[in-house]
Amino acid sequence: MFSYGQNNFTWNGTLRELEGSCGAFCTERGRPRMSAPLSSSSGLEVLLSTLQNAGDVESTLNILSVLDELLSAGTDRRIHYMIKKGGSDALLSALVNTGRSYSPNYSVLLPLLHLLAKVGHRDRRIGMKAEEAGAVQLTLSLLRQNIANPRRAAACLWVLQVFSSSVCTANLIGENHGLDVIYHLIPQYTTKHLHTIRAAITAFAALLCTKANVSCAVEKGYVSGLLQLYEDWFSNDSQHEATTVCHSLLCCLHKVTSSTAGRQAVFAQGGLRLLYHTTQTCLLTKGRECLVEPSVQLMRKCLPKTPLPLTSDQSAYTFPLPGRSHDIPEMVMAADESSEDEEDEDNQEAESREYDDDLETDLNKLRRRPEPDRPKELLNQYSRLFPELSHDFQELDLSSASEDTSSSSSSSSSDEDAEFSSPSFRRNRKRSTGSRDLSPSSSGSHSGTEMSSERHASVSSQSGADNFRRHRNFLSTSPSFRSLVKEARQETSSVPSVGAQDAEEEGAAESQHRTMIDRLLERHGACIPHHDPRMYRAAAAKTRSIPGFSILAFPDFWGHLPPPGHEPMPPRRPNVQRLKVFEDVRRFLNTDDIINKVVFDLEDNSLQCPCDALRFYSKFECGNLRKAVQVRRFEYDLILNADANCSQHTQWFYFEVSNMEPDVPYRFNVINCEKTNSQFNYGMQPVLYSVREALEGRPHWIRTGSDVCYFRNHFCAARGPKASTFYTLTFSITFKHQEDVCYLAYHYPYTHTALKAHLKELQKLVDPSTVFFRQQVLCETLAENCCPLVTITACPASRSWRDMHQLRNRPCIVLTARVHPGESNASWVMKGTLEFLCSSDPVAQSLREAFIFKIIPMLNPDGVINGMSRCDLNGEDLNRQWCKPDPSLSPTIYHTKGFLYYLNSIGRTPLVFCDYHGHSRKKNVFLYGCSMKETLWQSGSAVDTVGLKEDPGYRTIPKTLDRIAPAFSFNSCNYLVEKSRSATARVVVWREMGVLRSYTMESTYNGCDQGIYKGLQTGTRELQEMGVKFCQSLLYVGKDLRTLYNKTLIHHIDLDHNILDHKSHNCFEDDEPPCVEEIEYSADCPPLKGTDLDSDVNSNMADTEGEEEDEEDLRGSKHRDSIGQSQLSNMKSCLFTPHRTRQASISERRNSCNGVSISNGQIIS
Ligand SMILES: [Zn+2]
Repeated sequence: MFSYGQNNFTWNGTLRELEGSCGAFCTERGRPRMSAPLSSSSGLEVLLSTLQNAGDVESTLNILSVLDELLSAGTDRRIHYMIKKGGSDALLSALVNTGRSYSPNYSVLLPLLHLLAKVGHRDRRIGMKAEEAGAVQLTLSLLRQNIANPRRAAACLWVLQVFSSSVCTANLIGENHGLDVIYHLIPQYTTKHLHTIRAAITAFAALLCTKANVSCAVEKGYVSGLLQLYEDWFSNDSQHEATTVCHSLLCCLHKVTSSTAGRQAVFAQGGLRLLYHTTQTCLLTKGRECLVEPSVQLMRKCLPKTPLPLTSDQSAYTFPLPGRSHDIPEMVMAADESSEDEEDEDNQEAESREYDDDLETDLNKLRRRPEPDRPKELLNQYSRLFPELSHDFQELDLSSASEDTSSSSSSSSSDEDAEFSSPSFRRNRKRSTGSRDLSPSSSGSHSGTEMSSERHASVSSQSGADNFRRHRNFLSTSPSFRSLVKEARQETSSVPSVGAQDAEEEGAAESQHRTMIDRLLERHGACIPHHDPRMYRAAAAKTRSIPGFSILAFPDFWGHLPPPGHEPMPPRRPNVQRLKVFEDVRRFLNTDDIINKVVFDLEDNSLQCPCDALRFYSKFECGNLRKAVQVRRFEYDLILNADANCSQHTQWFYFEVSNMEPDVPYRFNVINCEKTNSQFNYGMQPVLYSVREALEGRPHWIRTGSDVCYFRNHFCAARGPKASTFYTLTFSITFKHQEDVCYLAYHYPYTHTALKAHLKELQKLVDPSTVFFRQQVLCETLAENCCPLVTITACPASRSWRDMHQLRNRPCIVLTARVHPGESNASWVMKGTLEFLCSSDPVAQSLREAFIFKIIPMLNPDGVINGMSRCDLNGEDLNRQWCKPDPSLSPTIYHTKGFLYYLNSIGRTPLVFCDYHGHSRKKNVFLYGCSMKETLWQSGSAVDTVGLKEDPGYRTIPKTLDRIAPAFSFNSCNYLVEKSRSATARVVVWREMGVLRSYTMESTYNGCDQGIYKGLQTGTRELQEMGVKFCQSLLYVGKDLRTLYNKTLIHHIDLDHNILDHKSHNCFEDDEPPCVEEIEYSADCPPLKGTDLDSDVNSNMADTEGEEEDEEDLRGSKHRDSIGQSQLSNMKSCLFTPHRTRQASISERRNSCNGVSISNGQIIS
């Protein structure tokens, strides 16, 4: 019927009179019709300007009618077009013109207000425009004049609500006592004029978008009034006719509780108890379910902020850094940048932040390679990391002569220790200068000699003899495990009891224990490929941790096999979050069954654990549990240890639990998680390992836990700002066995020791006549752990010049992983990669012949060992240090970068670089790459990209993976260069080293939502498979390597056509798929369906003939008012009464509501 264009407004309707002058058409009474098109934009503009200038009622009414008809049809685009053409301004000035007269004509004013509400609702600048037009105070005074007229009052209220979308305007209304006027309009329970009442409550809520208005409302006691009103309406509304009013009241309370004072007021006035009880009623009645969610969220918000029960927010582990004071100051915890501003913030609608803000649009930064961060002379030290280039492969000649020589061949240089103590890389404390820089030229630049020796003392807090003891202690496992071992051997006499750990560390018991383990291995011997418990034990002896771990976690020692079947994501139990919040609220309201006893404290060894409580333990590699508090009989709050040397980054967990009763659900709450959302809300479960199951031949980490849910809680930092926010991960576990020892973790653990043992195992297994496998130490870490670098390639076919030449010219592929210690999935992917590259698979063989693989499987060993989530010992995210890594504080990054510089300097820029990571908030596996063009396009940059040349080869690997790797999702990949990621490995290697194919590979912790693994949680099998598939995708890379792409090889890649069929190339998956239950942490009240402003306004408009009757009715009721005229006149014919005091009982109020219309003049029935 109508169409809007950029510059024309055409009208195909049937407004007959339009041909005449506008004035003529406007005076025509009745529904306007149009017959001729209004060409160009003049049509709408003429209407609007006539509206502003028209003095007479008829024409104004006509125009309003036309406009309303126009705007009611079609989409919001029409209204936005009208706003652009000055529609709001025209309506505002018409309002001012009409409303200012001594006795305003309401037959004009009312439709005007209605239209203004509808249009203004969509005009973001309406508040400002209204102020400029002088319409704010005018509307407020119209409201004051019409509080006895529900219909007019409603219209004014909607307009005021719309004006309040601007903080300034809302404050202006507040300053003019609008808040009080509107508050006093809200009556107690009635069945009449619900529209107007709701309009009043909604307008009141809208005014509470500002700090000033909220504190005013709190000061005047309106919070208690609102609670009282809610109670009144809720309890009297037995027919559920006023549910929308109740909902609107909850919205007001939500607004009020955006401030601390508001939350405190709600709590102090018994709001929690009220909401708790009303909500329970709601749950039983169908019509009131919509009140549950807002109530639950209100309760969640109003639970008083409780500091974590810790003496310090600082990690329990501190490590003296080189060149820094030993006393690490209590760090101020940074506010969670991604959290909603629940704290005293104006709820002003933020400027819609462009997603692209973060994209790099500076062409120079995208294109120009910066100068190297170090002098060239420092690079030569890295030549030793290329043994394959200098090796002469003499053994090739000998290999036919004697089989034995293979053991001494370069490829199986099995003396790892010799490698580790490579002279220049072994940090020699005696001659140490404290500098991490390995170049002799930089020695003496730091004054760290004392530093490092002191550090050593404090780190291991042992010397000489102790060190020996420590190593010996590695032979034992955790105390609870010992009791289990005891039982397994049916020995009761000689083995010390649980808890007598220290005594047991002495001679005889120790050796006995050792043999026990050996016998256990013989009897139950787990046969796990590429894992040998004895080798693990030996490797663990050389792992250096801050607290000096002396105990091995059983799963790491014994090994893990993926369980036989797939593990589907369990469906989320409906309303689980709400149930959990309820339980948490009940902690405050009903303390009868609350125990609140600390049962485990990492820092307090003397703690006596009650015999009927669970026993916790986490002092082992990767362990991360700081404190456990028994809350109720079968419920525990768990607090994770922050990353060493800082007070943040709690997400990863790994601990041991024992002394459980079987077949009872235990609820665990990890109460200091930091991420704002988690896949735990979308089908992910934590993992559990049972020692008993393992000894019975099922050494599996399995997904477990019911009622898994992740939500924002009421805890804050122990010492830090109250504004700090934490999230609870809650889950329930029913243990199968009595007297079991179980381990629970965020994800499948993978320790640094596991890596070392695994590399040794691989070294033993590779065929040295074909595989060149060399393990070296890239550097040592701050805590003096090794950071291994592995070289894998094929031995040349012969020592002929041709073969040697081919070897020395193979392109390099550089792979790294586990820079973020909490991302253990990255290590499992890397394990898959390593095993595949060492295997006899023909594809692996081809890859070895084509490339030299340089792999740094663990960039952050210290973080991994000490159970950290994000950082290195210096408290920094190592994947943000790549621009200018500090040689002494971030040695692994410094030397990885140096190693890459070296490759560049000898003209061997890597063909592919990939850093393996884990992603906690997405499903599937995907790549982030770097593309200058895509970044510029996406950012909407004005830079002309036509002339820019870019090799599209960066897409080859993701495209291939999408075809061959079931867990991989091409649609989740992107190639954008963000400013916030400018110091990550991917971006720096791309920009500074010029590696076209530089990636971050993100693997989910959860599972897949596409492909053959759709709906399944990922296991170590799938993660390892991903590592294999990544290697296979490399076959497709590079110009000369196309020859590799031959049918024989492709045959070996498991290119299942079903996989292709399952891929969903067209759909873009959301970060988080829709959930049965909204994950709601926001400060806003969830909206109610079908109660938007438009439909309210429309129904008020439709009610054309009712106005006079209503007024009659109201007058009549006033006469019947039992309270009397004198008070009424005091109220200046107020239609609404002020509220009763809070003390009035509900029954009293109910009486007053009964029959006789109330009351002090509120909206009356
Ligand atoms: Zn990461």
